[in-house]
Amino acid sequence: MSLIVHKYGGTSMGSTERIRMVAKRVAKWARAGHQMVVVPSAMSGETNRLLGLAKELAPAKESTAYLRELDMLASTGEQASSALLAVALQAEGLEAVSYAGWQVAIKTNSAFTKARIESIDDKRIKADLDAGKVVIVTGFQGVDPDGHITTLGRGGSDTSAVAVAAALQAAECLIYTDVDGVYTTDPRVEPNARRMARVSFEEMLEMASLGSKVLQIRSVEFAGKYKVPLRVLSSFTPWDINIDEEAKSGTLITFEEEGAGAMEAAVVSGIAFNRDEAKISILGVPDKPGIAYQILGAVADANIEVDIIIQNISKDGKTDFSFTVHRNDYARTTDLLKSKVLASLGVSDFVGDTKICKVSIVGIGMRSHVGVASKMFRSLSEEGINIQMISTSEIKTSVVIDEKYMELAVRSLHKAFDLEA
Ligand code: ADP
Ligand code: ASP
Ligand code: MG
Repeated sequence: MSLIVHKYGGTSMGSTERIRMVAKRVAKWARAGHQMVVVPSAMSGETNRLLGLAKELAPAKESTAYLRELDMLASTGEQASSALLAVALQAEGLEAVSYAGWQVAIKTNSAFTKARIESIDDKRIKADLDAGKVVIVTGFQGVDPDGHITTLGRGGSDTSAVAVAAALQAAECLIYTDVDGVYTTDPRVEPNARRMARVSFEEMLEMASLGSKVLQIRSVEFAGKYKVPLRVLSSFTPWDINIDEEAKSGTLITFEEEGAGAMEAAVVSGIAFNRDEAKISILGVPDKPGIAYQILGAVADANIEVDIIIQNISKDGKTDFSFTVHRNDYARTTDLLKSKVLASLGVSDFVGDTKICKVSIVGIGMRSHVGVASKMFRSLSEEGINIQMISTSEIKTSVVIDEKYMELAVRSLHKAFDLEA
């Protein structure tokens, strides 16, 4: 008998019929003798619907008062799906109880809409498990030190599940979703993408941080920090498939040392992409000490995250300075440049582009192989795709390109690196 955490995403919880299937699957695991904790997402579309209602009433704002209400609102999606799952489990003849984040409690900081989990009290959950109940804990939400409800950022139920699994020292955390595992790239963009039976923690972390939304990045960070055995698998298999087979299906995130796993042979193991960024270029900036700080210091002070940064070599004492930010922060960033930064640089304007995307190749094998990036650049050039920015680390190379070439770039790289099924 083991303590197991299941997480079900929005599509998996998308209707009462789907919730009934989830209940049957969880009941199967409970009847096999496992102690079960389930972390559901809101029903698919519900979080967007709720946030859309707020937008109808008032334009998005950065004020704490406004963001607090967004969290009050969005957290109700998970509260509803959790209670519905408890009802469905009771209908299956199991004892089940659902808790909102604050009832557990899942304690977070006060960064509304992107709060971080700080601690989880396991007492209440453990007592219920020991009493033979299935415990359902809302995904995506927690409570801050002042008792305000917080949410963990979009896709945050993954993080709730892994954090709960870490707190309870669960034997495994199973992330049930609408694909049957982690693929070499998003199978919706490249139908020839291949499911990986195993993927290393480091590669999963890069894939998630570079845009693969199959797992929220913080969930992967948590899994690494607390060594939570983590598996991604499908909730769309028949609920009554053999439990041993199910337990081995999908993709296992492994923590083995480099070279020990099945990934050894692959130089590049996956391709990620991200359409959420925007680029800003300030042209003709004086090339003297302190300029990068003058620009990016102001951006950082406004709590805006910067991703890729490029400064060109100087010509006649002037240089061009480009960086990317999240598209949601684009307007704030450009306002800030206009009001605070440009004049002090002695520059009159900048060029902005919100129609970009970032495409990245990821693989532990890149550490020990030369020529991987150049193969990437050759493949893109053969498709006539212009590279606007490049960023590299030990195990990834990212390029920024025009967003209209995203699918073409992903598919040609997938082919160039022999990732096909
Ligand atoms: P859930 O609602 O279950 O959390 P998400 O929509 O957040 O599901 O994540 C699953 C989706 O992630 C898939 O439907 C798929 O389109 C997308 N995805 C992106 N990259 C990958 C990848 N490398 N492997 C598998 N799925 C991916
Ligand atoms: N319901 C939240 C969202 O849509 C959290 C999640 O599904 O993981 O982002
Ligand atoms: Mg998700």
